[in-house]
Amino acid sequence: MSVAKNLLAGRIVEENLFPYPRLRAKDRELLGMMLEAIDQFLAPHREDFKRWDREAEQPAEFIQSLRDLGLFGLIIPEEHGGLGLSNAGYARVLSQTSGHDSSVSLTIGAHSSIGMKGILLFGTPEQRARYLPKLATGEMIAAFCLTESGSGSDAASIRTRATKCADGSWTLDGEKIWITNGGIADLYTVFARTTSEAGKITAFIVEAAWPGVSHGHHEDKMGIRASSTTTVSFTDVKVPAENLLDAEGKGFKVAMAILNNGRTGLGGGAVGGMKALIALATQQALARKQFGEPIANFGLIREKLAQMTVECFAAESVVWMVAHYIDSGLEDYSVEAAISKVYASEAIQRAAYEALQIAGGNGFMREFPYEEAARDARILSIFEGTNEVLRLYIALSGLKEIGKSYGELKAAVDDIFNSPIKGFGVLADYAEKRLTRATGVGRDKILGKIPPQLREAATAYEKYTVELAKVCDYLLRKYGKSIAGRQHALKRVADMTIDLFVGLCVLSRATALAADKGEESAQAMVIAHIFARQAKRRLAHNVRRIERNEDEQMELLAGFIVDRGRYPWDIVK
Ligand SMILES: Cc1cc2nc3c(=O)[nH]c(=O)nc-3n(C[C@H](O)[C@H](O)[C@H](O)COP(=O)(O)OP(=O)(O)OC[C@H]3O[C@@H](n4cnc5c(N)ncnc54)[C@H](O)[C@@H]3O)c2cc1C
Repeated sequence: MSVAKNLLAGRIVEENLFPYPRLRAKDRELLGMMLEAIDQFLAPHREDFKRWDREAEQPAEFIQSLRDLGLFGLIIPEEHGGLGLSNAGYARVLSQTSGHDSSVSLTIGAHSSIGMKGILLFGTPEQRARYLPKLATGEMIAAFCLTESGSGSDAASIRTRATKCADGSWTLDGEKIWITNGGIADLYTVFARTTSEAGKITAFIVEAAWPGVSHGHHEDKMGIRASSTTTVSFTDVKVPAENLLDAEGKGFKVAMAILNNGRTGLGGGAVGGMKALIALATQQALARKQFGEPIANFGLIREKLAQMTVECFAAESVVWMVAHYIDSGLEDYSVEAAISKVYASEAIQRAAYEALQIAGGNGFMREFPYEEAARDARILSIFEGTNEVLRLYIALSGLKEIGKSYGELKAAVDDIFNSPIKGFGVLADYAEKRLTRATGVGRDKILGKIPPQLREAATAYEKYTVELAKVCDYLLRKYGKSIAGRQHALKRVADMTIDLFVGLCVLSRATALAADKGEESAQAMVIAHIFARQAKRRLAHNVRRIERNEDEQMELLAGFIVDRGRYPWDIVK
């Protein structure tokens, strides 16, 4: 049962939230050795990373060292020569590498999270046996080729063509853009539109060495500059029938499954980046003296450090909850994965901005690491699904599923879509009933487990889960199926869902930590309390703005500006 989708119907699926998951013992053991080795290897490269950022290149010998460290085989099963880490363990490794350099994380991450994930998820035994051992050692580096110049967020509109030949093989033609690892990859997962079977999207495994495959020059980027980003072109490329991935026409499903499954890699990387930023900003605040004392003594600086810490803990809590869903075989986790990506990618951008602000003028200087951190973090809300599109996905998937997960509600929700007036209040009533039946979090089963200092937080999440259901009910009633085009409202639904799901992950983690008696456990309670208070304010704001907003005026104003194509006022006139 998807926790996030259920929130929109006013239900908290406690069993998928409590207790907070622990890493597998096997992962802990492996990580214990790996994390130290990673630090020992990457820390001495600090100055090199800076230089490679400027030069926009990782030297081949350095990539070889990543191979030697085993960083390309993290999630490949042991029987194929990999380390067999779980998603949670893998995300933790990326968190460690990101603490040193984002381009390193991206090189490893694009290979594992998306480049070869298709073979892991959908590969035939033959495809797995042929490619996974080479992918595990890094003899083959992988990349994921979906985006084209005319097809970004609208991935279903790709035009790369796959023509079926008489012998069952395929011919690929087209060009992909902005492909991470494009210039260093030996293997591409390529999405193309077949000319047969109604032009359905199909996924192929393509080797870089095959005739007709080429890549463009290394793009000159704002951030993650040392990681390879290039176009990848396919001109009359012969692809054997056995290199089709999954089934003909199933490519869109394959692409989405890969992206959903890979999101915790990005999230883990963001968490590692935030931890590094908190350490840097703290050292900076202690070392820098103004007005006769360290700036770390000033309330406005302390507020930034505390806020960064709350958001890092929240991102960590949600990312590893989602990694656990994937590892435990839960099938319906795509909305939670989208939430973890949106939250973690935005939290690290706020952290990078604030760390730079704490460093003051130094933050602006290339000599210091803050400006690079800010540049590197910027991509995270753009690729692997923009945060706008993911917010729409979160809201619409939840709204669509409301009926499905509740047999008793299905007819009513169908009614809401068909005739908005008929289904009046059904969802809100349902959510209220659930609450009075005392099945929410914070009550019966869970109440005993939640430490007293977190009960206020639990009650807030419970209350706003019902409010979210009421909001959904109202919107479905008001707009019926046309809700899909109401993006202002959908964003509020998404933001409420994000706050509730992330908040519940924080609550679960803090509850688990409460068993330890140390200072860190006490501070985790404080974090959970702060997050809940802040989330509650945002939730209340979003609920209010469902009816009281300036959406229409904003739409009119946008239309005015779009028509003119510029800002028309000037004080001279
Ligand atoms: C450094 C880098 C590395 C990348 N690596 C890869 C890779 O390895 N493989 C790969 O296949 N791709 C890769 N990409 C491509 C990336 O996934 C796309 O950039 C992303 O999907 C967005 O597409 P777009 O840039 O065309 O933006 P567009 O889709 O044109 O979007 C532009 C803006 O419009 C918004 N928007 C779009 N549609 C809607 C809508 N329906 N409602 C509201 N807002 C909307 C977007 O959120 C965005 O703000 C990479 C991109 C970069 C920059």
